[in-house]
This record gives sequence, C-alpha cells and structure tokens, in this order.
Amino acid sequence: MSILTLDIGGTKIAAALVSDGVVSSRETVPTPAREGADAVLGRAAVLARSVCRDAGPADPVTALGVSCAGVVDSERGVVVAATDLIAGWAGTAVADRLAGAFGVPAWCLNDVHAHALGEARHGAGRHTGSMLLVAIGTGIGGAHVLDGSVVAGAHHAAGHVGHVHVALAGDRRCSCGRRGHLEAIGSGSAMLTAYREHGGVAADGADLDAAAALAGPPGEAARAVLATAGRASGIAIGSLLNVLDPEVVVLSGGVVGAGAPWLEPLRAGVRESALDALADTPVVLAQTGADAPHLGAAAFVRERTGAGGTGSSGAPAMRASAVEEGR
Ligand SMILES: [Zn+2]
Repeated sequence: MSILTLDIGGTKIAAALVSDGVVSSRETVPTPAREGADAVLGRAAVLARSVCRDAGPADPVTALGVSCAGVVDSERGVVVAATDLIAGWAGTAVADRLAGAFGVPAWCLNDVHAHALGEARHGAGRHTGSMLLVAIGTGIGGAHVLDGSVVAGAHHAAGHVGHVHVALAGDRRCSCGRRGHLEAIGSGSAMLTAYREHGGVAADGADLDAAAALAGPPGEAARAVLATAGRASGIAIGSLLNVLDPEVVVLSGGVVGAGAPWLEPLRAGVRESALDALADTPVVLAQTGADAPHLGAAAFVRERTGAGGTGSSGAPAMRASAVEEGR
C-alpha cells in the first residue's frame, strides 16, 4: 500500500510514493512561492496527481502525507506561522485542502520534523530511542525525536536549533530579527557573509568549500569561517545535549558537505560545551538524503492510521469529505 507524499518548500515541491520504507516515482517542480498559497497548493496537487498515476490500480494510494515549510499544527494540518518565503502561507489548512483535492485522508507536518522522523525511522537514528537532528543549510533547524515520535512542542515550534544563543555570534542579527542566535553565525548564508567580510569571493557554499582547500590567504579565510561556524554549531549542540541527552546527534543539510574543516571544529565545540557524561555522544551524518521528508511524512501518516494508511478512524475520513475544494 502506497502513501503519497509531498514536500513543499520555498523553492521546490517534490512528490513521491512511499511503500514499505521505499521512496519511488519522485517528481519535482519549482514552487510558485510569490504567487501565494493557492498557487502553491494547486501546483502541488497537479504534481501529486502525476505521481499518483504511477501507483496504478494494483497499488492504490491510501493516504497523503505532507511535509512543508512553516510552523505546523500537525494535529489540524494547518500552517500556524510562516515567514514570507511563500506569500500568504501562514494560516493555510494544507491537510484539508489537499485531502479535498484527492479524496484520501491527509496529514501535514513541518518539513524539518518530517526530515527528522524519516531519519529516525530509516536512517542514522534507527535502532535508537532518541535522536537530535540538526539541519544546517541556508538556515538552521532541528528536531528531537523521542521513542519514535517528533517532540513538536506546546506551540508546534520545538526544534528551532538555529535560534539559540551562542557567544560566538556576538550581536550579529539573526533571520528572526533577534541578535546573537546560532543561525547568524553557523548557517550557510551566515558563512558566506562572513567570508565576504574577509574579502573572499564565493557565490555559494560550494565555492566556499572549494576555497577552503586552497593555500594562501583565501584558503585561510575560508577555513577560519568554516571553523568558527562549525565550533559555534557544536557549542550550541553541546548545550542541547545537556538538556535533552539524546542517544545520537544526526547532522544534515547542505553545509555538511563542507567536511572536515567544518565537522572537526563542530565535534570539538560539542566536547567544549557538553557535560562530561555527554561529551562522547555520537555525532553522525544523516543517511537518507532527499528521501528523508518523504519517509518522515509517510511514517507520520502510519503513526496516525495504524498501518499503511488504511483502517483510518472516522476522523480522517471526515476530514477528506468535509472540505470544500478550492476554499
Ligand atoms: Zn534567530
């Protein structure tokens, strides 16, 4: 039995089928982010229908799992807060809207939470009882997975690892408008800013990573930026270990590609900040890559339905039938 999954981000929408932990029939389109929530959901529905056709009558889609940007109330399937990355995204009833479009029960959760759930069930966190995922890319997010479920928090916003204070960030302004948060020094975009402040020239993270391999001042500046960002992330992670004590820390996101010049300072930062009893907590790299949000969204659906998306209680069936398409 297949679960249809959608991963809706600010730049692209991906749809796929997930069956028994295997992701297939993946298709991707750009997100019409500036056209607003209706356009984004419309594009997602078209993409999902295309993927659905691949499932065929022998293996029908029984449920829809959606991973999306923003703070998501995953019990109601509603985006309760979001940046303006997608115009008008906050307030969108993603699960109901897409359930209405497809006639199958739908669930929705935050994309980093989905990513973490996928990694916990099928990647580096499997066989563990607790995991802290830290996703470091353009921004920094995270999630604490405990006993196989994401800790969503009282306001659905748990896991904002990028928005903890680290002294190394000084008074640098964070994307959230506050100062001194990890994201302002540890994220990919912060690293590019810092490198340019040192006179470096880099269009993206790959340029920065390449510069770090160079001899001479450009290489030294790049390595210094990677080391500071890595150490700052490690210090923040060490502090989180002191609160959460997970079995393993899993790192994902584009910055992970920077390798040892970033990762070694990160591990040193963890040891610097974590209590002695926690300083040897394994810090490993994610394993499921782009499959993670799909695996996580499917796992979330299975969590809610029992197994395979069938045998749903009345509630999700009502959700599917009670919506007004195009609302
Ligand atoms: Zn912040």
